[in-house]
Amino acid sequence: MSGTSRSLPRFNALATASARRPRKFDRIANADGRPKRTSDFFGCNTFSYDLLATKLNESEISTLRRFATQDQPLDRKLADKVAQAAKEWAMARGATHYCHWFQPQTGATAEKHDAFFSFDHDGSPIDQFTGKQLIQSEPDASSFPSGGRRSTFEARGYTAWDASSPMFLMETDSGVTLCIPSLFLSYSGEALDKKTPLLRSLNALSSACLESLKLLGERDVSYVIATAGPEQEYFVIDEALYTLRPDLVLAGRTLLGRSPPKGQQLEDHYFGSIKPRVLNFMMEFEHELYKLGVPCKTRHNEVAPSQCETAPIFEWANVAADHNQLCMEVIRSVARRHNFAALFHEKPFAGVNGSGKHVNWSMQDSKGRNLLEPGDQPHANVRFLFFLTAVTKAIHDHGALMRAAVATPGNDFRLGANEAPPAIISVYLGETLTAILERLASNSPQATASSQRQQTINLDLARVPAIDRDNTDRNRTSPFAFTGNKFEFRAVGASASVSQPLTFLNGAVAQALRELNDRLRAMTGGSAATDAQVLALVTDVYKESRRVCFEGNNYDPAWHAEAGTRGLPNLRTTPEALAVLAQEQVQTFLADLKIMSREECQARYNVMVERYIKIRMIELETLLEIAQTQVLPAALVQLNTLVEVAERTKHCTGSMGPAEEQALTALRTSLAALESGRKRVADLIAKVSQTHDEVEAARLIAEHGIAAMDQVRAAANELENLVDDALWSLPKYRELLYIA
Ligand code: ADP
Ligand code: MG
Repeated sequence: MSGTSRSLPRFNALATASARRPRKFDRIANADGRPKRTSDFFGCNTFSYDLLATKLNESEISTLRRFATQDQPLDRKLADKVAQAAKEWAMARGATHYCHWFQPQTGATAEKHDAFFSFDHDGSPIDQFTGKQLIQSEPDASSFPSGGRRSTFEARGYTAWDASSPMFLMETDSGVTLCIPSLFLSYSGEALDKKTPLLRSLNALSSACLESLKLLGERDVSYVIATAGPEQEYFVIDEALYTLRPDLVLAGRTLLGRSPPKGQQLEDHYFGSIKPRVLNFMMEFEHELYKLGVPCKTRHNEVAPSQCETAPIFEWANVAADHNQLCMEVIRSVARRHNFAALFHEKPFAGVNGSGKHVNWSMQDSKGRNLLEPGDQPHANVRFLFFLTAVTKAIHDHGALMRAAVATPGNDFRLGANEAPPAIISVYLGETLTAILERLASNSPQATASSQRQQTINLDLARVPAIDRDNTDRNRTSPFAFTGNKFEFRAVGASASVSQPLTFLNGAVAQALRELNDRLRAMTGGSAATDAQVLALVTDVYKESRRVCFEGNNYDPAWHAEAGTRGLPNLRTTPEALAVLAQEQVQTFLADLKIMSREECQARYNVMVERYIKIRMIELETLLEIAQTQVLPAALVQLNTLVEVAERTKHCTGSMGPAEEQALTALRTSLAALESGRKRVADLIAKVSQTHDEVEAARLIAEHGIAAMDQVRAAANELENLVDDALWSLPKYRELLYIA
């Protein structure tokens, strides 16, 4: 090995990474220097209603709340007062700028900062923040995706204050910015962001639920809100190694890399003790998130080496969506302080687990009741079964849409691999509930009652079952599982905004409820339904939807076959799944619920297809570049050395030694495979570039791109195993995954 090769950047990075020590950070402290309790500083960087209450009177506060939750107008004077109070509060904490913080269709967040600083009418410098500036801002946002290629949208839009989520302060070492959660709309009012449809879907869900509750005899509920708690998985790897991987930097995932002999087979990482350097990082990002009012609750190591998870206490879905975005942003930026790179990609490493975002979801009414909580009173259980079957029906009717809701290029590597739910969307209800519903369906309440230890059936009260909440009953392989008092949508990818999955889920459930409401109304002629009538409907709806229910192992290949016979869609790739959004009946139902107009839905479809193509093209081109500039040169140096050695041996002994011969053959074979893979990738890139129909381009990539990339990957991984370690410039899997 030559003296220069040991100074490869990779070896320096390894030395740097292994020498790092945990970073200590300063917690917010009391006067006595001791750290404050979380409950004492939680939300200190958010502008809450409590703070406003000191500046506004009661009627102003309630006007503001109506503006926030019911889309009631806000007059300019009150807006000015709120802006003034927010400015005072933010400036007292060092803020110099404000920004409308919004969620364009890139899946990330966007912000454009404006200074409070201005001039007054006679030219003196002042600090200013008006109601008008609070309510609306006009970013020159023409570069955001609007899907407008084929629609008539004006891509330039404006942002509008979303008062349903609190303003917050974003701190960096050098300054503070007041962030105003906002919606992003076109001038003609079309949603250009992910948040607006989410809010609309919450309205649709609330009205449908209120109607249901009325029919169930409950008239004293004023709203229903979806609740969400997204469990966030991610990887952390050392920054020095990360920067030497162009694939991680550009594509977010490794495009090649040989699996190390030790992967996750020992299962020693899952819930294992957290390394101090990582733990310190977790503590610091949680500390930052607490300041922003994000209620982090759990932290643990996940299945793959270097993989972790954080989960919050659930919140209203609109706030949870903002908070999950903040969570990812804060994790990313705090990681850097600890010399880590945080990866949210769904499949950053082949051969070990990918990352998902299990979105826990339920519905809560204005009295604080969880509508998916089994009750201890018979009537409450009827209500529970009603909403439970409505959700089941929603997934039954809109399984393909739920698949489309989680369709991203990264998630295609996860869905259907043996670690995440498959691309077939099914519902898991658990043994107890399945038994109860099956019993209702077979109209033989007593027949199986005695065999079920876990529940009792109360036959006196109109066959109303008593239901024990059963938390032990779990199926980790289900994409959509009932877990005691909420559903867990597990097919969501780790990098995704939760807004879209939540929007489609809320919409699907709202539509199912509307249908149930109509049927119930038809049964009762308009008067309040009896428990027996509701149960009869629940039974029918369950029978109609039960083909979507699956209690078995979703990873089992046999399930794919069975799902096929049940007629459940199995949309394996993103382009196939996205096509659902272009379907007439899907667009019509979303438009009927006023969640998105047909044009908005079509525009989103266009944006997502385009993003799919762009992301895959980045992967293809990055892979090509790495293959050409890093893998091939190292392999050629190796070949050269081998040839020299072989010639010398031959010169001395008259023949090549068996080791040299074997190494030469292997190297040449892998080099040939690399070259043919490289050509395949290059040809595909050329073909896609010449295809002007985007749907066709996406299809081409889905059909041929992954296989072509896999061929290059396989050849490169072989070469990684044949080339002198001292020549290999890319940090290896064992280094990326184990050195932190
Ligand atoms: P488990 O999955 O073991 O039941 P938890 O009860 O802690 O674990 O819940 C996991 C996630 O589900 C947490 O983020 C939690 O806040 C969230 N969650 C719990 N209840 C609800 C609910 N009613 N609505 C939405 N999310 C919920
Ligand atoms: Mg988990």
